[in-house]
Amino acid sequence: MAISDFERYPLTFGPSPLQRLDRLTAHLGGAQIWAKREDVSSGLAFGGNKVRKLEYIVPDILASGADTLVSIGGYQSNHTRQVAAVAAHLGLKAVLVQETWVDWPDPLNDRVGNIQLSRIMGAEVRIDPHGFDIGIRESWQDALNDVEARGGKPYPIPAGASEHRLGGLGFANWAYEVAEQEKALGVFFDTIIVCTVTGSTHAGMIAGFAALEQAGGRPRRVIGIDASATIDQTRDQVGRIARHTADLIGLGRELRDDEITVLEGWAGDKYGIPVESTLEAIRLSGRMEAMIIDPVYEGKSMAGLVDLVTSRAIPADSTVLYAHLGGQLALNAYTGIVP
Ligand SMILES: *Cc1c(COP(=O)(O)O)cnc(C)c1O
Repeated sequence: MAISDFERYPLTFGPSPLQRLDRLTAHLGGAQIWAKREDVSSGLAFGGNKVRKLEYIVPDILASGADTLVSIGGYQSNHTRQVAAVAAHLGLKAVLVQETWVDWPDPLNDRVGNIQLSRIMGAEVRIDPHGFDIGIRESWQDALNDVEARGGKPYPIPAGASEHRLGGLGFANWAYEVAEQEKALGVFFDTIIVCTVTGSTHAGMIAGFAALEQAGGRPRRVIGIDASATIDQTRDQVGRIARHTADLIGLGRELRDDEITVLEGWAGDKYGIPVESTLEAIRLSGRMEAMIIDPVYEGKSMAGLVDLVTSRAIPADSTVLYAHLGGQLALNAYTGIVP
């Protein structure tokens, strides 16, 4: 099997755009920095990285005959909003378990941003008191049972669509998309920076780029920046999903441990709580490039990029691709922070 053997149901406009970040590059004074914009690549409720994962899961949903997508996340989950969007697009129902993943006392947390959009798109939103956990949970098992009790046919989509057998394929394909764009533009990104939480975005990239290298491509580094503050669990999860996805797309060898790179140091103490470096990164990205990033995910991965480029841990002759995975809607639930 290869990535091209898997059916993909298009939910995006096409390849996500690449953007040079010239002012940020000049400001940091080191490596060349570009962004690949998952946040502006779909017409479905502002899109984001989960839409790209779902492109490879929709064929399985349709084949299952399900009428209701069931998923889980925090109140301001980008993932559940994207599940609600895909459900609306397909004419299916959505039941979303929204847990108290983030201890951020914004009075609008359960009403604005992502959760408001999910409600607008007709999803059944269930507020649940459980805390943050990237693993499989029982609270959505209850939701699945309820859908069945009502005579519906549920289709379970785990948090971030990561612990799904096909969850890594979307970003394995992203690697191939990058390689095509590089050919067209005459550039080569030797370093990829990506935010990592539930893991299948980073894991898919690792598998996809490894397969490209196996086919004769130049080696490169895929650096995940932890935003979950549960580093051991995250590394495990990324490694497991990367190996599974590599197997699916026929890599034909085991991934080495040194290919699974999740760096810590920018997450702060807790998922969803920005720290000073997060806020600085949000301001820098806004002021240099009008590229808006959020306090939960991309603010943390951008803080990592800034430090790695400034310290020359990423050398000055590198060309870096920053994966912008979306998430700006959550800013509405962080009214107390920025500018
Ligand atoms: C989900 C998400 C991530 C993390 O992706 P994972 O596949 O869960 O590791 C990063 N950024 C944004 C905006 C997200 O919504």
